[in-house]
Amino acid sequence: MTAKDAPRPDGVRKLYELMRRVNSSTDPSEVLEEIARGVVEVLGFGIAAIARLQGDTLVMTTVAGPEDVRKQIIGRRTPVSAILNEFAQADEWGILRYVPHGRLPDEIMGAAWIPDITPSEDPEAWHPLDALYAPLYSATGELLGNMSVDLPPDNRIPGRRDRELLEMFVVQAGLAMSNAQQRERLAEQVRLGETIQRVTAAGRLLGLDLTLHEAAEAIASGLAATQVWVHCFPDGEAGASEYSAGYPDRAPTHRQAGLRRDLARAAHDLGRPIVVGRESTEPGLWGVQNVLALYDAGSLVAVPIAVGHELLGNLVILRAPTAGDLSEAELDAVDQISRELGRMVLNTRLYETERRLVAELQEIDRYKGELIATISHELKTPLTSIIGHTELLEEIATEIDSVRAISRNAQRLNRLIENLLNYSRIQDRREHARRAVDLTVLCENSLDLLAVQAEQGGLQLKLASPPAPVIVHGDPEELARVIDNILSNAVKYTPAGGRVDVAVSSEGTWAEVACTDTGLGISAVDQTHLFSAFHRSSNPEALSIPGTGLGLAISRRITELHGGDIVVESTLGEGSTFRVRLPLGDRAQADRGPADQPPLDDRALSDGPLGDGALSDWALEDH
Ligand code: ADP
Repeated sequence: MTAKDAPRPDGVRKLYELMRRVNSSTDPSEVLEEIARGVVEVLGFGIAAIARLQGDTLVMTTVAGPEDVRKQIIGRRTPVSAILNEFAQADEWGILRYVPHGRLPDEIMGAAWIPDITPSEDPEAWHPLDALYAPLYSATGELLGNMSVDLPPDNRIPGRRDRELLEMFVVQAGLAMSNAQQRERLAEQVRLGETIQRVTAAGRLLGLDLTLHEAAEAIASGLAATQVWVHCFPDGEAGASEYSAGYPDRAPTHRQAGLRRDLARAAHDLGRPIVVGRESTEPGLWGVQNVLALYDAGSLVAVPIAVGHELLGNLVILRAPTAGDLSEAELDAVDQISRELGRMVLNTRLYETERRLVAELQEIDRYKGELIATISHELKTPLTSIIGHTELLEEIATEIDSVRAISRNAQRLNRLIENLLNYSRIQDRREHARRAVDLTVLCENSLDLLAVQAEQGGLQLKLASPPAPVIVHGDPEELARVIDNILSNAVKYTPAGGRVDVAVSSEGTWAEVACTDTGLGISAVDQTHLFSAFHRSSNPEALSIPGTGLGLAISRRITELHGGDIVVESTLGEGSTFRVRLPLGDRAQADRGPADQPPLDDRALSDGPLGDGALSDWALEDH
């Protein structure tokens, strides 16, 4: 080994220190500074400059050497294609690339920094237009940057020893950049993940306005944006409202709204966000240039908010001139965020439509209720007069069948109107008088009234109940209406020779009245509508028996107002069981009662509360 080829001890020591720093430093730019300085101070090059790849441009970030040169070239931007072109023409010195003067056209070399030295005839001497580069790669072979050196020691083309040492510095620079890149990527992943999480969490806020505002703020901080706008289009046909949010400013709904909409539509058609920078000169994008100038921004990203083919709105992001282009990971995150926003907007639209339809239905229902109540009232007065006069006629003309028929049918009409009035009254009812009511007593009273009809129809009626009262809280008259309806239906829809078994029981906190008959039964399809107002079974046998289809609707409503429910089990042609379930009441509590309620009515416990016009009358109808 000649003295010239022996490694320089200070260079090796410096390298050793550098290697330790590269592996432990958290600031890669500091390490790169040190590497460049080492190349100049230890290896003796006049200048060492490191450029980092940003997108497809190499940006000079670190320069060691004379201050005036540093000032000249720091921040210089070179398209990566130009440098790759030079590499292709270069001699390969291991990982170094040497481009001797004269190999590339002078104008290319002239674009670089040229040292102020006089060319020499000596073939070993360094020429001012010679260039020596070292591309910096990651461990996976990805180009991360470039180091260029000039003015080698003694102004001579570097020998093997100097190249080897330089290569070692270059490797450390590549490692430092690789570390920095990995760290940045990880930090970016964490930042974007958090942004997406924040946007998703914003979806749980109440109201799309608030959600979009919070999402805009999250996007602004996660994507280093100076302004974020979110705009959701109104849709009169679907009844969807317009929403606009933004951070720090709310999206203007009129200014540039058309431009933003057009950009989002174009982006939606393209299937990816549209990014417009200051350098764009397309005439169609002048509007964007105005926005960029107005907001002092460097680029605008237009993102569609869409679900499938439907464009629901847009997301527009403005970034500062210094922010650079969005990375692939950032574009992916934007895409994910826009899909998340699309889902939120769609949900809100569905919710709005649902609310509107419910309001419309409620209005129709209210109108129906009013109509029923008004017509029933209007019919009641003339009918009362008809019934009164018919009673007079019956006293005079006792033998005339027509008078009896008029009276019978007038009574039937009267009951129908009573039911209609009950139905419309019960619809609006929220409160009911609460007393202790014994379900066994209600069943006994109801069966007493049905006894004659059952005997005439050849039916057996039976009641099974526990010795102790089964007490529930509620309005005795209304609860009696429920029991009467269920029991009278059983008698009404059970042909001769059948049975009706009523069982009162209690279990846990619930009381139950189960009424089982061996009657016509109800098909599965009819069972699904059984409790809707005016529904009557489609079974012809049941239809031939007069009824209004209101009794079960009234019964369910009353039961629900009392905190209970009614269920049915039935097989067509075999019979049915109706179960009325109500929360058990405590008699002592009922006796005390709330201060504003009437005192306990003993009649409800003993005599039963059947009033005039109760539905039990239906069972006694003269068909
Ligand atoms: P209505 O008896 O006046 O028609 P309801 O609302 O009380 O009205 O009953 C609705 C329909 O349910 C009846 O028309 C009848 O077809 C059927 N239904 C009710 N109870 C029974 C039953 N115990 N057995 C068979 N069908 C029944």
